[in-house]
Amino acid sequence: MNGKVYIVGVGPGDYKLITLKAVECIKKADVIVYDRLIGRKILNFAKDNSEKIFVGKSPNNHSLSQYEINRLLVEQAKKGKIVARVKGGDPFLFGRGGEEGVFLYENKIEFEIIPGITSAISVPAYAGIPVTHRECCSSLHIITGHEREEKEKSSINYKELAKIGGTLVFLMGVKNLPNISKNLIKNGMKRLTPVAVVERGTTFDQRAITGTLEDISHKVLEEKVSSPAAIVVGEVVNFREKLDWFLKGTLRGKRVVVTRAREQASRLVDMIEDLGGEALEFPTIKIEPPDSFDQFDRILENVRNYNWLVFTSPNGVKAFFERLRHKKIDVRSLYNLKVAVIGKVTADEVEKIGINIDYMPDKYTTDELLKGMKKVITPSERILLARSDIGSKELLDGLLENGNNVTNVTVYKTSPAIEDRKELLDLFKKGKIDFITFTSSSTVINFIKAVGRENLDKLSNTKVISIGPVTTKTAIENGINVARQADEHTIAGLVTQLIQLVQLGDGS
Ligand code: SAH
Repeated sequence: MNGKVYIVGVGPGDYKLITLKAVECIKKADVIVYDRLIGRKILNFAKDNSEKIFVGKSPNNHSLSQYEINRLLVEQAKKGKIVARVKGGDPFLFGRGGEEGVFLYENKIEFEIIPGITSAISVPAYAGIPVTHRECCSSLHIITGHEREEKEKSSINYKELAKIGGTLVFLMGVKNLPNISKNLIKNGMKRLTPVAVVERGTTFDQRAITGTLEDISHKVLEEKVSSPAAIVVGEVVNFREKLDWFLKGTLRGKRVVVTRAREQASRLVDMIEDLGGEALEFPTIKIEPPDSFDQFDRILENVRNYNWLVFTSPNGVKAFFERLRHKKIDVRSLYNLKVAVIGKVTADEVEKIGINIDYMPDKYTTDELLKGMKKVITPSERILLARSDIGSKELLDGLLENGNNVTNVTVYKTSPAIEDRKELLDLFKKGKIDFITFTSSSTVINFIKAVGRENLDKLSNTKVISIGPVTTKTAIENGINVARQADEHTIAGLVTQLIQLVQLGDGS
């Protein structure tokens, strides 16, 4: 049976401008056929084993012709695959989605069209320009600024456009801008008509240049504006003075690397983005099940022999209770155990299950947990540490020294994450990263492995922030300078340091 093709628009760049329906289609696709202008993070929505085929133009890629792309979609669908044909902005606005749809129709392949947020409207909006406004215009015209060179006569009706009175938005027009402004003026548009050129709109690198029909080409050349950029012509451009809202947060213009595992990164990423910074995910570790469940299962069956259950991360909690559920062991078999946790986020995870915490230190470090536990436990009590395969030795040794019977069980494993990080490594090597955040010793160690020890000197422009003393120690031992350490050893504590460093740097 044939598969199906979804022609999906994913918005202009800010990946959060994707629609729910587009995310659904990308998630279920076996094959993703994508272009250049889609946001970097869009492919993260894809399922793990999907095939990703890049068909856009790039300097070192032979790009497929439109016909070859059409054929590819049909071939994949004929193999029974669900195909997501992913395009920037909206697929039907200068996106050749129409041509692909017709080809699918002619080849009797089922398809759906998922409209997207187009750059023509959203890019001006992110630059504080409403494409219409009752005070000055009542229509919007979207025009291609890119004309095939062989065309003798322009197919754009400048004569009409010049007197139409609505906002004009040109896409694909940066190179042709001198021509566009010349033609509009020649056909009677005022020389002083406001114009904005918005480059890489809705992304962290957005830049807007404003001027008039008369001087905009010169300015754009001077500022070396390049594609993709949207050109807006009309009085609405003046609203930018009051409506420019994007990239205003404390972290504006700052690039912050997040080294946590992808599964855990979202809170930190969201906080950075909410403050207007760019969060670059560079997962150095990956959370996985332990190599063997033998020891873990044996312990679970005899879990009532213990007096304390200790968790040092939310992952530990999740893994522990997942296995309990899997083995169909009732949570009431834990009735006898007291629970200790290292900090608030771990406590939250335990409390979600309906179990209250018996001990949590005031400061969220292994050291404090150990000190505090020594006060609340008696030496005869049996302790179960449910941790990762690389849990710190200090906690285990300290409790053993206290005379306790301690069992350390690996409930999850952290392994180095292997992903394609070329783009990020390039930024790193060019010294274009402002901050790196480390949230555990293993993120430090694996970060060094990923970038190569010999590249650590590239960190001279980059400030490193660590979540706590153990992480800081590991960094320093490995020759990484730590600019700040979180006072409260949490993600929020880390972000507080980030904000303070930026404010110091700004002299405020
Ligand atoms: N289907 C797309 C447009 C494809 S044509 C849409 O609906 O948005 C490609 C042109 O779109 C680029 O040359 C540029 O003019 C514009 N464009 C796309 N993304 C853009 C962005 N992030 N910032 C500015 N212009 C963008």
